[in-house]
Amino acid sequence: MRIILFGSPGVGKGTQAKIISKNFNIPHISTGDILRKAVKEQTELGKKAGEIMSRGELVPDDLMIALIKEVLTSAECVNGFILDGFPRTTVQAIALDKLFSQIEISDAVLIYITADENEIIKRLNNRRACKQCGSIYVLKDIENLNTCPNCGAKNSFYLRNDDKEDVIKNRLEVFKSTTMPVLDYYKSKGRVIEVNGLDTIENVNKKIIESLKAKNLYH
Ligand code: AMP
Repeated sequence: MRIILFGSPGVGKGTQAKIISKNFNIPHISTGDILRKAVKEQTELGKKAGEIMSRGELVPDDLMIALIKEVLTSAECVNGFILDGFPRTTVQAIALDKLFSQIEISDAVLIYITADENEIIKRLNNRRACKQCGSIYVLKDIENLNTCPNCGAKNSFYLRNDDKEDVIKNRLEVFKSTTMPVLDYYKSKGRVIEVNGLDTIENVNKKIIESLKAKNLYH
């Protein structure tokens, strides 16, 4: 199973990707997580990406395409993967297609999770991440906690720079102007499933699974 999870920042792609990754036993490839790790470790890529990310802008296509090629051709991805955060531009989508044909992949499906913009701004403002493991939480669920339920790190919750209100607005603008055209590109190829993201985590997941089954893509 090869899935491309598509949708606006804050729509719940990361959360759904983690569940689907377990459902199908395929790796969750989040370009945002890979970049945040690179920034934390101050690798060459991290040094180039850090400032761009904190402004809510996109890391250049050539860097992202090189990164995704390396990951998707690695041994962990031979039996499938779920891509979260890539492609984010039409140039990336075309490069991904070229890579798929080189490594003989023809079954990738794009799942588009939709949601209303006002709801997204509210969600992003109210989410916190763990500095240690990157897990994302809703503020009200962790208000009385001082350790991360996932990794046990103490006092590690923070508001990601790119989840601050002015940066959120910029990320949403970038999504509309630069990333949305990717959807038309995939629609023209016919392998798109659309799911409303304004529901509980469990229900959104159920809808994704049902749509995959309906299209005979659940195996
Ligand atoms: P995310 O966690 O997916 O929202 O990604 C966080 C940030 O990483 C984005 O706002 C971009 O700055 C950068 N990023 C992640 N994936 C890509 C991509 N495919 N192309 C360009 N920039 C990306």
